[in-house]
Amino acid sequence: MTLNRREFMVTSSAALAAGAFGPSFVFAQAPAAPPATPVFTAVRRNVGIFTARGGTMGYLITPDAVLVIDSQFADTSQMFLDGLKTRTPRRIDILLNTHHHGDHTGGNKVLRPAVTKIVAHQNVPALQRKAAAAQKSEENQAYADETFTDGWKASVGDETVSAKYYGAGHTSGDAVFFIERANIVHMGDLMSHQRHPRVDRPSGASIRNWLTTLERVVKDHNADTIYIFGHSKVGAPVTGSGKDLLMLRDYFSSMLDYVQKSISAGKSAEEIVKGSVPGFTDSEGTPQLQVAYDELTAKV
Ligand SMILES: [Zn+2]
Repeated sequence: MTLNRREFMVTSSAALAAGAFGPSFVFAQAPAAPPATPVFTAVRRNVGIFTARGGTMGYLITPDAVLVIDSQFADTSQMFLDGLKTRTPRRIDILLNTHHHGDHTGGNKVLRPAVTKIVAHQNVPALQRKAAAAQKSEENQAYADETFTDGWKASVGDETVSAKYYGAGHTSGDAVFFIERANIVHMGDLMSHQRHPRVDRPSGASIRNWLTTLERVVKDHNADTIYIFGHSKVGAPVTGSGKDLLMLRDYFSSMLDYVQKSISAGKSAEEIVKGSVPGFTDSEGTPQLQVAYDELTAKV
């Protein structure tokens, strides 16, 4: 007997209801992640963004030089490279990594043959090595050739691109990249829009310093600056303004206030993590209240 799809599903449901397959069958049928759709979007003055899966990539294409920010994953970085080749005959002069996480550096090795040099904050290679060792993915990594501590600057065609380190935030190795004439800032994962941000405390993250970093970044730029966000809620834009950064500042302020007041009221960590961030219950994902608790109760 041949079944069409609908009949098969009905039959399967009936079989499941009868317990014919057992609970493991249910998990085996979990849908796979949807395939990534590569999208290049022009932002302003030779600068664009690439989205597929993972952290938003940035690129600057000039007749004399090409710069790329972050590399997502191995498969999506190949999609990026294929699309880039239709936009410029040039190699990539510089690949910048905003931080070490695998959804921002996982494509480094794929891009490596097309890249002259990879640049990141000095804490990035060690954090990347540690994460790769934990995931047994050492052979899939490519690391920065050049690192910086407080800042870095380079001429890229008719542009000037600079990096600034504001201290610990999402990790202890986040850099903010500024493409000056375009007036575009790539925030990496220091910016998570309408989505509960990940705070990677084992990698040296600091919510308190992240909060002030967002204010400092906004002060260092102007009302016309366009910011590229590492991640946004599904369907929400991955670029925006300083107001969006200050909204994330307010999120952290609300989070720390809620957790600190709960600690002062004698609540346990178990009770506190069941709560939410007041004013930000529409954000996508789960708030990292345990991390906030750990930071606020840490001895050092
Ligand atoms: Zn990250």
